[in-house]
Amino acid sequence: MKNKKILIVGAGFSGAVIARYFAELDYKVTVIDSRGTVAGNCYSCRDEETGIMLHIYGPHIFHTDYEEVWNYLQKFGNWKPFINRVKAVSNDISGKKQVFSMPINLHTINQFFGKTFSPQEAQEFITNQADNSIKEPKSFEEQAMKLVGKDIYRAFFYGYTKKQWGVEPRELPASILKRLPMRFNYNDNYFSHKFQAIPEDGYEVIVKNILAHKNIEVKLNTPFAREMQDKFSHTFWSAPLDLYFNYEFGRLNYRSLNFEIIRDSGDFQGNAVINYCQEDIPFTRICEHKHFEYWREFDKTIIYREYSKLCGKDDIPYYPIRLTSSQKTLDCYIEKARQLKNVTFVGRLGTYRYLDMDITIKEALNTAQEVEKNLRTGKCQNAFYVNI
Ligand code: UDP
Repeated sequence: MKNKKILIVGAGFSGAVIARYFAELDYKVTVIDSRGTVAGNCYSCRDEETGIMLHIYGPHIFHTDYEEVWNYLQKFGNWKPFINRVKAVSNDISGKKQVFSMPINLHTINQFFGKTFSPQEAQEFITNQADNSIKEPKSFEEQAMKLVGKDIYRAFFYGYTKKQWGVEPRELPASILKRLPMRFNYNDNYFSHKFQAIPEDGYEVIVKNILAHKNIEVKLNTPFAREMQDKFSHTFWSAPLDLYFNYEFGRLNYRSLNFEIIRDSGDFQGNAVINYCQEDIPFTRICEHKHFEYWREFDKTIIYREYSKLCGKDDIPYYPIRLTSSQKTLDCYIEKARQLKNVTFVGRLGTYRYLDMDITIKEALNTAQEVEKNLRTGKCQNAFYVNI
């Protein structure tokens, strides 16, 4: 009887949250993942030698304004408040290398220009720096020029963004820069959200707890095979969208990351995240993971130098690259997906969008609810329950 059986491909946040929703309504849920761990790219675990919690696929700080998402996560583990205070290495206006505060705030502006501006003075100064002829920024570059002007753009955004995305910032959407706040006060919190935290025992524990239900079976190291779907009334797909179709229209572009991992003793950089904004430094940032766990003490340290690269055939996809030039390929996949009756695409990779964890969870909850309602009432399902 396949009526109340659900298949979920991918054991990240999307897959786990949807699995839990159906399990609680007494569906039998099978979650498969080709990797040997749950939590997808959020996965973090303790290093055996030092006990430091490592964010294996890069730093993940949970931040949200959605109270329902925050409350939902509280049920599955202990969260420690964490404010991400990022530093950024670049040259100031005179060409002198310095460590700045990121996101751009009054401290960054004063230090960069060698000034002691008040908030209002800084605002007036930056307005004069900015390109006011740009009314509706269409690209990352236009957004930056309109917001901060050429000097700050070149020092903090141009090189970092080119390294991170592998293309000129004028080819990228403005939405990427809109992720970052810009402030005319000394608030150096990287995020502006009401809730900001890190799970005390890592993301693996949170996701395992979401999946810990008698109606959920998790099969790790299990790649998807099409015939698996025959036994289920509905499939949720959170792996890359193009993989579902065996790359029939060519590969969608993703960025992947390489980490150079260095073990040392003491304190390497005195902060969890330091960005390297200049183009001639090959890595984008260094994360010193023990600083994410400010409530514990470690003699030793582990740092991850992060290098961004185009995602090859055997690499792990991290960031979907939404270039206008690849829209045609994406449209072909979307069109093809829409013809399917029993599959819904979810999450960062399944919907090919640069999503944060909180949006992923919120969308997973909404999508699960919609699909369940349609299953119960015999209505047609959609491939996407979000705008992609
Ligand atoms: N960015 C930048 N300089 C920085 C930090 C960020 O140019 O010092 C740009 C870069 O294009 C990056 C985007 O802002 O991809 C979004 O940054 P965020 O920190 O949200 O990236 P993530 O942590 O998701 O990699």
